[in-house]
Amino acid sequence: MITTVEETLLPLLKIHFGYDSFKPNQLAVIEDVLAKKDVLTIMPTGGGKSLCYQLSALALEGTAIVVSPLIALMKDQVDVLKANGIAAAYYNSSQSQEEQQAIFSSLKQGELKLFYVAPESLGGFHTVFQEINISLFAIDEAHCISSWGHDFRPAYTQLGTLKERFPKVPIIALTATADGSTQEDIADQLKITDGTRHLASFNRPNLFLEVRPAQNRIKHILEFLEERPNESGIIYCLSRKSTEKIAEKLQSAGYAAKAYHAGLAPQQRTKVQEEFITDKVPIIAATIAFGMGIDKSNVRWVIHYNLPKNVEGYYQEIGRGGRDGLPANALLFYSFGDVAQLRRFISESENADVEYAKLERMQQFAEALSCRRIALLNYFGEHVTEGCGNCDICQRPPAYFDGTVLAQKICSGVARLKEREPMGTVIDVLRGAKNAQVFDKGYQHVKTYGAIKDISWLDVQQYVIQLLNQGVLSINFREGARLGLTPLAKEVLFSKKSIQLAILEKALDLKKTQGKTKASKTGLFEKLRVLRQQLATEQNVPAYVIFGDASLKDMEAKLPQNETEFMNVTGVGQAKLEKYAEVFLKEIITYKPAKKKSNTPTHQQSYTLFQEGCTVQEIAEKRVLSENTIYSHLMKIHAEGEELDLHQFMSKEEQETIAKAKEALPDAEGLREYFDYFEEKVPYWKIKLGLYLSDG
Ligand code: ADP
Ligand code: ZN
Repeated sequence: MITTVEETLLPLLKIHFGYDSFKPNQLAVIEDVLAKKDVLTIMPTGGGKSLCYQLSALALEGTAIVVSPLIALMKDQVDVLKANGIAAAYYNSSQSQEEQQAIFSSLKQGELKLFYVAPESLGGFHTVFQEINISLFAIDEAHCISSWGHDFRPAYTQLGTLKERFPKVPIIALTATADGSTQEDIADQLKITDGTRHLASFNRPNLFLEVRPAQNRIKHILEFLEERPNESGIIYCLSRKSTEKIAEKLQSAGYAAKAYHAGLAPQQRTKVQEEFITDKVPIIAATIAFGMGIDKSNVRWVIHYNLPKNVEGYYQEIGRGGRDGLPANALLFYSFGDVAQLRRFISESENADVEYAKLERMQQFAEALSCRRIALLNYFGEHVTEGCGNCDICQRPPAYFDGTVLAQKICSGVARLKEREPMGTVIDVLRGAKNAQVFDKGYQHVKTYGAIKDISWLDVQQYVIQLLNQGVLSINFREGARLGLTPLAKEVLFSKKSIQLAILEKALDLKKTQGKTKASKTGLFEKLRVLRQQLATEQNVPAYVIFGDASLKDMEAKLPQNETEFMNVTGVGQAKLEKYAEVFLKEIITYKPAKKKSNTPTHQQSYTLFQEGCTVQEIAEKRVLSENTIYSHLMKIHAEGEELDLHQFMSKEEQETIAKAKEALPDAEGLREYFDYFEEKVPYWKIKLGLYLSDG
């Protein structure tokens, strides 16, 4: 009987990781590694890169050496592997000597299937690596080796000698961000130019893409959150100040939210990050520094409070949402104020021309009148033309007209200028402008000169931008932002492919649209989440180490009644079956759907539990909300006129102290000032309650 590699790998995938099928490109990559080929893999965030080398490691004899630049990430990955019953360890300078000794010795004994090490620590392993049986080298975040990439790390350059020292051991290099030149450079530096390459699509179909005008951002955010209770998300801001302002506003509205920025002390930053990963603080308002290397799979939404400075950054940040493949939202607020501010920042930078051009492209994306995903994927060189159905524009398209002839004229204008000129010149020539720039170059003699005389300059510009967003034209940033033709443009020119363009007036009116990720229907998911949180707290690991959201959703859908059925749940492998089947089955089997729960407002639900005799702490635990939130709920109930004695939550003295603080801080605008006044010793809810009560 002949078995394919796939047939031998699938059982391993199920037993160790609990998955039934591979994600795109995983199998092809693993097959190459098992055939001892070197591989360069470009996969978007959440594409499942780690599994490529992890499963290869399990299928091969010996120990896989994984080089990874982020200590926090190494630890998380090793935790997840161990939870799946796989022998793995990591090594870094922060560990105690004893720990390091123990790891060294299990590495030497060949006990580990995977060994994670930071590039800076590699030097100490020269000899050991010669003595042990190495199955493969995995180079994570491989773009760090290239000075063309955006995150060069000198320590990575020493990896260039691996191939010479271990010619027979396959090297698998992985990254989520590398344009063409960076890819070439990675292969050169690692000396794996003879290896294979796998470029997975950058599409993240589960992300709902949406742009709204920036007026009343906070109000929009609060409404957005109202529809998504208990979901975890990140709000990206330009300034530290706005992260704090937003976190504060959300706190006062009863959400467990915190700010994160470079101005916080390192321990404080680690703490916030930890609280986010473990879902203690599900919402973070952060500057862009946040999220790098965080492997949290259940981030349900990413909001850009400010416009990002380029599409690469935007894409990377929204990529932190929905890594578990379940629906997630990416909401961008767009304002000209942000553009002006970003332009000021850029004016100080060395590479200003390129950065201006990239910012403009970002703006055009925000103003897109056709499918946002098409715009995004084409930006990264994927020539997609089908609308996605999962963005605001696809859901509420503007009115279109048949713009084929206009598109042909524009494309032909670009072609006649030999794809050498930027947008402004192309438009000038198409409109037959009589200026020095045009005459100096003799462009009044090109065939398309004056081909679009009857449309205003600004309107032509809008159409050109539409063609950029539809992937018909592209901008080459490295070469004076010149306009170029894509393969699609050639179809427009030579095969008469038809093009729809948005009618301008109507289109400019950016509508507020909503892509709701419906809250779970039955409520079982919520119960399973609570259980997962308890287990995670007991074991002191992030919740997703127990199970990802995708597994819980699958339990809710399949309602397994015994171990065999439980094994069919995605993410349930042998180790998790043994550890968790019993507790989770118990919860599932005894679950009775609550009556009409979903229609009850959230503060009312908390109050009902309170009336049933639960303490605030118990309610918070039951509902997986912060105590802060529960107190806000109770205050809201009180404000709505319920007879509820709020004085039971604070002593007379406490209330008097807060009343005094109020006199001492006549100009206080938010709770934060009180919080600082009390040297962070009085929790927010108490301040809020004290102020509420002293307001009478
Ligand atoms: P990347 O490193 O590429 O950003 P990860 O390796 O962290 O992505 O994988 C993202 C998520 O997808 C993880 O939760 C992982 O467990 C899950 N995953 C990986 N491979 C599969 C698969 N074949 N089927 C289902 N889920 C998978
Ligand atoms: Zn779309």
